[in-house]
Amino acid sequence: MDKKLKIIIENCPQNHKCPAVNVCPVGALSQKDFEAPIIDYDKCIGCGKCSNFCPKKALVL
Ligand code: SF4
Repeated sequence: MDKKLKIIIENCPQNHKCPAVNVCPVGALSQKDFEAPIIDYDKCIGCGKCSNFCPKKALVL
């Protein structure tokens, strides 16, 4: 992974189902209830697809 994905927690309202979780091609994102998504860095390949799906810009590469 050349770029590291980060979650900007304060951008995430944590009140909805994260639309980015199902977009990840390698299943690196998971979400518990409506909390901010969690990144599994062992899986993430840094593709950035998820960041395009977060309307709040809470997922950044
Ligand atoms: S950057 Fe790509 S591989 Fe990493 S969590 Fe986002 S969608 Fe998944």
